[in-house]
Amino acid sequence: MSAPGWTRAFTDDGAVDVEVLGGKGAGLVRMTRDGLRVPPGCVITTAACHVYLSARALPDGLLDEVRGRLSDVEAATGKTFGAGPEPLLLSVRSGAPVSMPGMMDTVLNLGLSRDAAIALAVRAGDTRFMADLVARFHAMYSEIVLGALDDRDTVDALVNGVNRDDDPAAVYDRVWAAAEAALDEELSESVPADPDDQLRHAVEAVFRSWNTRRARTYREHHGIPHDMGTAVVVQSMVFGNLDDASGSGVVFTRNPVTGEPGLYGEYLAHSQGEDVVAGIRTPDPVARALPAPLLAELEGSCAELEARHGDVLDVEFTVEHGVLYFLQVRSAKRTPEAAVRIAADLLADGTATPARALSLVTGDQLRAAQRPGFDDEALSAARAAGRVLLTGIGACPGQVCGELVLDPDRAKERAEAGAAVILARAVTSPADLHGMIAAEGIVTSTGGSTSHAAVVARALGTACVVGAGALEIDAAARVVRVGERVLSEGDPVSLDGASGELVAGTLPTTTPAAANEAMDALLAAAADAAGCEVLARVTVPPDVVAARAAGATGVVTAVDDVLAASGDLNHLVETLLEKGWDGVGAGTALDEVRRAIARQVSGLLAAAGDHDVDVRAIDLLADEARELLQQTAVTTRHPELALPLGVPALIAAQREGLALAASEAGYGGRMRLAVRHVSDPAEVRALQSLDGDGPGMGTYLTSPRAVLGAEALVELSEVVWLEVRALQAAMFGIPARQFLTAAPLDDYVARGLLGIDPRHAIDPTVEPLLAVLSEAGRAHPEVPVGVRLSGTVSDRVASRLYELGFRRFAVDLPEVRPLILGLGRAALAG
Ligand code: ADP
Ligand code: MG
Repeated sequence: MSAPGWTRAFTDDGAVDVEVLGGKGAGLVRMTRDGLRVPPGCVITTAACHVYLSARALPDGLLDEVRGRLSDVEAATGKTFGAGPEPLLLSVRSGAPVSMPGMMDTVLNLGLSRDAAIALAVRAGDTRFMADLVARFHAMYSEIVLGALDDRDTVDALVNGVNRDDDPAAVYDRVWAAAEAALDEELSESVPADPDDQLRHAVEAVFRSWNTRRARTYREHHGIPHDMGTAVVVQSMVFGNLDDASGSGVVFTRNPVTGEPGLYGEYLAHSQGEDVVAGIRTPDPVARALPAPLLAELEGSCAELEARHGDVLDVEFTVEHGVLYFLQVRSAKRTPEAAVRIAADLLADGTATPARALSLVTGDQLRAAQRPGFDDEALSAARAAGRVLLTGIGACPGQVCGELVLDPDRAKERAEAGAAVILARAVTSPADLHGMIAAEGIVTSTGGSTSHAAVVARALGTACVVGAGALEIDAAARVVRVGERVLSEGDPVSLDGASGELVAGTLPTTTPAAANEAMDALLAAAADAAGCEVLARVTVPPDVVAARAAGATGVVTAVDDVLAASGDLNHLVETLLEKGWDGVGAGTALDEVRRAIARQVSGLLAAAGDHDVDVRAIDLLADEARELLQQTAVTTRHPELALPLGVPALIAAQREGLALAASEAGYGGRMRLAVRHVSDPAEVRALQSLDGDGPGMGTYLTSPRAVLGAEALVELSEVVWLEVRALQAAMFGIPARQFLTAAPLDDYVARGLLGIDPRHAIDPTVEPLLAVLSEAGRAHPEVPVGVRLSGTVSDRVASRLYELGFRRFAVDLPEVRPLILGLGRAALAG
């Protein structure tokens, strides 16, 4: 039948729209189409969810439509919903357009009326199996639909006592009564025995689950819009808990921790899928646990799916009495390290085009993949000294230290107070999310590499160890025990999310040589596509080495930064306050500038080889300089410093110092000196007529006036930089310094008081100015015109600047790789 409306059968033709069918529904439709074995069913669209959430009622006709779909499923399976001889049971599953693992709700084993349950036991020849299903259904329905979280121990004990050949009717009545009794007495509702009622309420509950607190928190953290809504999948059940030739599992088509090729995942015999995902029982590696023919079938299908999607996938499956069924496919959550390796591998073997491969890694993943790690020697020493408390399963790499915290509320509280936190839990659940976001690292005592903790940590890029069986958490005493050892909440620990080690005490961390072949290959493809110059901001010679390793085409530095790092700036200011600008001989302020620059910059130039070095002149009025010097006396005493060319001799001295540094270093590249806050052609002419030899002179624009008049300034300059942060700050009338920190702007933006967050997006008022500068640059191709970006550069800003025509950029060192990636992506998107 075909009733195009609120639902779609897996077998229906037509376009597969993830927005309408949700990720889960779309995946099931595609797998069905590709001929994989998928239990039949249908999808209720997100459009129905929108109606439900605004009207608080299911759309008219929806239930009839679903009923029609179910008749088709009944015809296809020979089973009957809610009745014997072979009852059809359903799963009712949430599935949003974007994956929100574990965030929303699913009800399994739905459709067990008394008659159906008895028929099922007879059909399976196993009353115990039926009892298990009844208990599972009752518990899930109570939790998801009624919001009850009851103690089920008595029900579980009852089910455990049932035998295969017990009388089904009596057992059903006993289990159902016990389950009903376990429900909180305060609750006004109970679990309906009528399958149609069960279905209707479950669908409504899944729609409602879109707006639970945990779902909203997850969406806010991941920037997912709240108005998407969820689809609902209604699907016939297959039973992994039927017998020993049954089970359920989850596999990744490649290792989601390292990116290595080959199936990676887990299988739990005699179980339903929720048992694996919940992390309550620790499952077995799929390659060991699955019989060979099934493993081969799974591998074949996974390879096919991966090639078709051009991405690494996360596949949920169930085996019912030796027959393999596919229940879900989606893009796999992966660690940042794995993302890089996978993208490079798929690019190398031709599964992905460069555009596709670059789209598989985000700037944030690159940032995480180059993050710091433990000092090697300190780690070896800690191991030798027996400080390793335990080794669990490494679920998301990252080497982090912090104080041990046992509950998510406290984790959040301590993190807000500035502490680094390692959150230790028996298992995690979606209710722990706020604590997991706050933590530097997460360790759980049970669960495998596909448990909730592992999946969420991977999405967050948070170091995580699961299945740390030796960890005994005593929440009441607020201590953890590992064998004989006892650690109290608040004690310092170190966690290695790759090796799975938990170490007592703090380990020193270092910044690693982040690059590996995979990252280099991917960034080479991006750099190729983008064809941009990316210069890194440096202050000391080792930065230059790191910048070149990261793929920077040159470096930028600021005289005040270099002198501040070496300690010369303090001294210079003292001399200035003591002696003023007067005098040109040894020991005067200007002489000191010259000599300090010659001394400190020569190291940078030596390290730079023949790469470009762009230098910004001292700006003692800048926020940073004032903060560094912790005093404003110098600018109060010497107000002439407030103007770009207020003290021309200071600029000349810097130029001479740079010339000395270049000759000392034998520097063979191109160096230029740019002066901040210049806005007038007359200023540039004055710079160009300074006496003496030295680097070419340029301008470093910070004001709307300068940018609007860029054409004339570019023409006269040998290099031009625009400081985007300063320009945005000028347009907003907010001190530029505020753009470098989280507070107070975070709160301000969250209160909705600014239309955009000027730290992560370019304001519409600034765009036309940028276009003027870009145009001026194009009119003078011989003059390098670049944009200087501060702090983290969002992918959006990178691509917007690329679209505006900019091809020369300067960024902080850790941003070099993410920017190259972002520019490559922007180039290939065009
Ligand atoms: P999530 O979105 O949290 O992954 P799912 O809808 O995939 O939730 O359901 C959770 C578990 O229930 C899955 O791991 C799957 O194994 C199991 N499950 C879902 N539908 C069926 C089904 N039709 N038959 C058997 N098991 C199912
Ligand atoms: Mg699932």
